Amino acid sequence: MMARTHIKLATISWFIILGLVISFYRFTSNMSLNIRELFWSLAALFIARQFSILADIDSPYSRIGRKYYIKSLSPHRGPTHSALSIIILALISLPLCYFSTWLWGGVVIGHVSHIIGDLFTNKGVVLGYPWSKARVCPYSWSGTGSEYEGQVSNALSIAIIALTAVSLYLII
Ligand SMILES: [Zn+2]
Repeated sequence: MMARTHIKLATISWFIILGLVISFYRFTSNMSLNIRELFWSLAALFIARQFSILADIDSPYSRIGRKYYIKSLSPHRGPTHSALSIIILALISLPLCYFSTWLWGGVVIGHVSHIIGDLFTNKGVVLGYPWSKARVCPYSWSGTGSEYEGQVSNALSIAIIALTAVSLYLII
């Protein structure tokens, strides 16, 4: 999956989490996000978008890999695309909760959305690494950079515009 599709997928994932958090607040205390939390949630969106491409640091041809390729993390879609990588990244970034849980959430949302996105491409991901080398692919819709991915990417753009409009409407 291409970097821009991953970034859009992370944005949609962030909207879903934001919606769930707001619903939880309304349901439990009939309150909404205050300005401070709104700020942190937007910071989380920024972080989620950055971390949505981190996993591809294992490929010299990816957007992030062209700058920061780490050969020891190869092969592509190996260790950095595993369930273990989610746990490790979630633990390493845990200190961010000192400032706001949203920041930690941004890291996790970005990385998890990347792995979910790649799960549904024809190569799949080695989810159980290092215990299992099997490539997991519940449903293969396309390969990276295919015409179909372009269509999915466009659909995600439309969804992001719609969700932004609805969010602004609800805030104002
Ligand atoms: Zn990837």
